[in-house]
Amino acid sequence: MKRCPVMTPRKFRRIAPPSDDHRCACGYPLKRFWSHCPDCGRAQRWRDIGGQAGGECPSCRWVISPKFSFCPWCAEDLYREGRSSEKPLKAPKGFRMDAPCDARCGGGVQYPMPWCPWCGEEQRWNEDGLFEGDCPHCARGVDDWMDHCPWCGEDATGQDLIPRALTRVRQLLRIARISDWGYRILLRPGVSGVDPKYPKIVEIEQRYITGAKRRDEIPWTMLVGLISHELGHSFLYHHWYWTRTGAFRRAFGEVAKPYRVVDDAWVDFQRRRVAIAPVNHVSGYAMRHPQEDFAETFRFYLTRRGRLRELFSEFGQKRKGVRVYQKFLVFEDFLRSLRSWK
Ligand SMILES: [Zn+2]
Ligand SMILES: [Zn+2]
Ligand SMILES: [Zn+2]
Ligand SMILES: [Zn+2]
Ligand SMILES: [Zn+2]
Repeated sequence: MKRCPVMTPRKFRRIAPPSDDHRCACGYPLKRFWSHCPDCGRAQRWRDIGGQAGGECPSCRWVISPKFSFCPWCAEDLYREGRSSEKPLKAPKGFRMDAPCDARCGGGVQYPMPWCPWCGEEQRWNEDGLFEGDCPHCARGVDDWMDHCPWCGEDATGQDLIPRALTRVRQLLRIARISDWGYRILLRPGVSGVDPKYPKIVEIEQRYITGAKRRDEIPWTMLVGLISHELGHSFLYHHWYWTRTGAFRRAFGEVAKPYRVVDDAWVDFQRRRVAIAPVNHVSGYAMRHPQEDFAETFRFYLTRRGRLRELFSEFGQKRKGVRVYQKFLVFEDFLRSLRSWK
């Protein structure tokens, strides 16, 4: 008899290995020992299913080994004479040794235990390559699409830390009638920017916020400018076909030309006034590359609420070249064509 390819023989189904992963009550698949669901934020409890490890922490109710001296999940002191192991173990029943304890107590720890079950010291895990970025709240690994951090449960995007800037930017986009292209703003350590491979992901350097001691120290105006500039990059990557048109090329030039990455470049995103110096660019930074030229044009268009007449009169005073006007007109034409498709 020929076997139907979609039919699974019974015995295979029965011996299927128990999945290491579980689903949240909301249905979202979770990786083992995530504290929170990245989708709905619900706190998770990883219990001793089937009594495999032999115990649950009396404080957090997560799975433990009776041999542990500390709960590796909540750091609760669990030492009981005669039951806890007097010597740190590598991997008691139900657990795996992924690494030796960071404090070199001689015991083994399993990913992603935050505490050593033998000496109670804090553990650090190198999550490079496991996640796309770092949580702005707890610095552990998170992915770009996660709404909640699986470790601390806070907003994994960090958008909760910059509400004022985001409200303002969304308002400006509405006023300028630029419709949402699905961009996603993430607060991350490192640099601000958009990776052309992920055109919708706009990363904003978190140092401006986490570095501020008080809330009123946060440079909101600068952040609005910075986000607007980076949104410009995202917008352009998202509508890349437009860069191949004659109108775009005549105004901005060749966007595919080699990009020299410069870290020393300084751009004043706080500045809403048009710079006098470069005749054919809206700001000095815009001269660096056609892509920066567009991002700066986008920033000025947005932060000046798309009011070209007002902007153009300032260009007149600053004796800007005709090319600068063209850039804004070409951009406005393109926005109009996007609207007409709807
Ligand atoms: Zn959930
Ligand atoms: Zn515990
Ligand atoms: Zn230890
Ligand atoms: Zn976190
Ligand atoms: Zn840029």
